[in-house]
Amino acid sequence: MLKDPTLMKEAALVGAEWIAAGDDGINVTNPATGEVIGRVPRLGAKETEAAIAAAEAAQKDWAAKTAKERATVLRRWYDLMVENADDLAEILTLEQGKPLAEAKGEILYGASFIEWFAEEARRVYGDVIPGHAADKRIVVIKQPIGVVAAITPWNFPNAMITRKAGPALAAGCSIVLKPAGQTPFSAIALAVLAERAGLPSGLFSVLTGSAREIGGVMTSSDVVRKLTFTGSTEVGVELMRQCAPTVKKLALELGGNAPFIVFDDADLDAAVEGAIISKFRNNGQTCVCANRIYVQSGVYDAFAEKLGKRLSTLKVGDGMDADTVFGPLIDDNAVAKVQEHIADATGKGATVIQGGKPHALGGLFFEPTVIKGVTQDMAVASEETFGPVAPLFKFDTDADVVAMSNDTEFGLASYFYTRDLARAWKVGEQLEYGMVGINTGLISTAEAPFGGIKSSGLGREGSKYGIEEFVEIKYLCFGGI
Ligand code: ADP
Repeated sequence: MLKDPTLMKEAALVGAEWIAAGDDGINVTNPATGEVIGRVPRLGAKETEAAIAAAEAAQKDWAAKTAKERATVLRRWYDLMVENADDLAEILTLEQGKPLAEAKGEILYGASFIEWFAEEARRVYGDVIPGHAADKRIVVIKQPIGVVAAITPWNFPNAMITRKAGPALAAGCSIVLKPAGQTPFSAIALAVLAERAGLPSGLFSVLTGSAREIGGVMTSSDVVRKLTFTGSTEVGVELMRQCAPTVKKLALELGGNAPFIVFDDADLDAAVEGAIISKFRNNGQTCVCANRIYVQSGVYDAFAEKLGKRLSTLKVGDGMDADTVFGPLIDDNAVAKVQEHIADATGKGATVIQGGKPHALGGLFFEPTVIKGVTQDMAVASEETFGPVAPLFKFDTDADVVAMSNDTEFGLASYFYTRDLARAWKVGEQLEYGMVGINTGLISTAEAPFGGIKSSGLGREGSKYGIEEFVEIKYLCFGGI
């Protein structure tokens, strides 16, 4: 039961106007039970244009405020998120399925981006460059890009929004958001709290409805100067194409295919814990989840046994139950993909040593799975499973595992466990990824730059670099001095 039921609002925010879900609204279901938890409006081109116009009108005044004034509003928004964390977590679990404790973790993690960028707002420094002529002076200032469009996925219904809205608003931009159709209520709750925090209307709109129609208007608009997207590589590429005619700036957080390497000299218990955190967080449904687990031959069997045993003690169930560790998958397609990857691997000679089939609870629940004897020719080696399957590959040398790890179009997160300092440096430098976790399975934090290379995307979120994505550099040349 929500302490504040007004946070679960069946309406979208277009500029200053809340539009309630009508008879043609879109049902949102709980993936744990299949039950409809509420309805959101089916908005399209007209409302998207109105939200962009409101964002354009509001942005100039917002940019003209001092950084401290903007920071004060963001700080209030952060405080409200923390005060309402239990309710926000419950809404998140109801629409997304992750266990309540994990949802609460996401809310606090998500809020931390608003806190961080409220602080960073006051540190958007320019430069004074030594001039090239005696009568000239060169100064560089940074200014907000303007109106930003954001499209976000269902796996982190809160944090993928705050990671974009925090730096955009801190820099002096306005933002028009289309959250994922599966998880709109977390986004809407954020908008309710933004209003309460005193964020001027028009600066943060939340549009629910047809992704294609809303995305089409966002990408073709010449008022929108930047698109920030988190989702699949396929949709990211399409959006990039749509943004080309108006030469928009882009930030894309796309798919991953993270290697997780366990060397012979690793602390094996720590590596097992790290693998569980990295592989099974959100039931395997994050773009930084370990997708391929490479274990050196000397510890391969021991690691497999420990991982299987540990997993068998962790409970699968409805995220609303206190002792649940793994919730349901998001939808039927997710379950089908997991089954395909397991069937492909076992068909080519791999063996399931833990789990491997739909959970006895039925519905979208699946057993946490470990597969041994996995090789580079199997689908799990090249495709993101996005589910609770840990495929164990065996390797012998550092050079082999680095080559196998880099043999992918993706380059988001990677992980390895070793106690050898020289190896840690060398492998860290050789992995072609935007992020490398060394002796840790958990790398995401507001202080660090999150992002990938190759087909995993463009740009960085979080850290001092995150706000740079939302400013333009302007150079002023003063002559006649
Ligand atoms: P996932 O596989 O994680 O659901 P998607 O890339 O399909 O990733 O979805 C991420 C976000 O992109 C969601 O908000 C979704 O509604 C949106 N989306 C999907 N297709 C399009 C499209 N053609 N134009 C704009 N947005 C889209």
